[in-house]
Amino acid sequence: MPAEAGRPEVFRDALLAAGVLLDGGGMGLMLRSGAFEDAARGVEMLMARQMAGDDAEVMMPPPAMPLRTLTRTGYMRSFPQLAGTISCFCGDEAGHRRLVASMEAGEDWTGQQEPSEVSMIPAACYLTYGQVAQRGPVAMDGKRVAVEAWCFRHEPSPDPCRMLMFRMRECVFYGTPDGAKAHRDQWLARMGEMAAMLQLPYTIEPANDPFFGRIGKIMARSQLELELKMELLIHVSDPVKPTACASVNLHLDSMGAKWGLETEDGAVAHTACGAYGIDRLTLALFRHHGPELSAWPAGVRAALWP
Ligand code: 5GP
Repeated sequence: MPAEAGRPEVFRDALLAAGVLLDGGGMGLMLRSGAFEDAARGVEMLMARQMAGDDAEVMMPPPAMPLRTLTRTGYMRSFPQLAGTISCFCGDEAGHRRLVASMEAGEDWTGQQEPSEVSMIPAACYLTYGQVAQRGPVAMDGKRVAVEAWCFRHEPSPDPCRMLMFRMRECVFYGTPDGAKAHRDQWLARMGEMAAMLQLPYTIEPANDPFFGRIGKIMARSQLELELKMELLIHVSDPVKPTACASVNLHLDSMGAKWGLETEDGAVAHTACGAYGIDRLTLALFRHHGPELSAWPAGVRAALWP
């Protein structure tokens, strides 16, 4: 399907014209068609088969989490621009009358809501650290947890690869520094195998997260220099600038220290996360193999729907 450098809307419009996505009425809010979901489920099941030997405990989170989890992970320090907290109406009947009157008058009524105790989940792994920490020290040979969730990041964009909400499947490792590095190496190989099975041209490169502000720039540089984040890059909505369709992150002992995670020898546990973007890999398939699932290469179809 077509895409043009610096103009992600070209790919978006082609997806809309082909009926693969439907306009959700706001930037980053597309509806997915049956064909898109068939492909996304194929991708999801392929990921599940690839991770089947991980001996990972499944902990599927809802797409929201307590605000205190957002606080404890330091998300508001590093990525305040991406966070989405949830506000709700908590008033009485009189308050409700004022709310409805404001709406009918076309006024801004959002100030009549109050912050709730929850935020959207920005990455599938966020709820797992506290769960694992409360069980006591992690075995020396490590522990793996498998998660999948709809994630929210507030970055409205015309790029279909940057939707406000998207699905992420992850495998999180907790254990020794060497165990975390081995997990990273396994994911480096795994991400390439996934792209090869889907017949998607790719590279794997060091990357950094979009840390906020001046201090954030220093953090991003250090993350890049230490190669703590590696991304699977595929040309999707831009033929020049590729999109991260998966990543593997070494957190060193940062999450362990925040959550009081220890290994059996009393050391702070190291963690590492491999993450697939389900929607981005699905979009990459449409970009490279076209809008008709039945016309996709036989090898790709066999990988998705064995
Ligand atoms: P990370 O935590 O490394 O930023 O994200 C993990 C994976 O989630 C990325 O490699 C990517 O595949 C997916 N992802 C991150 N941001 C977005 C986004 O805005 N939209 C979509 N569809 N996927 C995303």
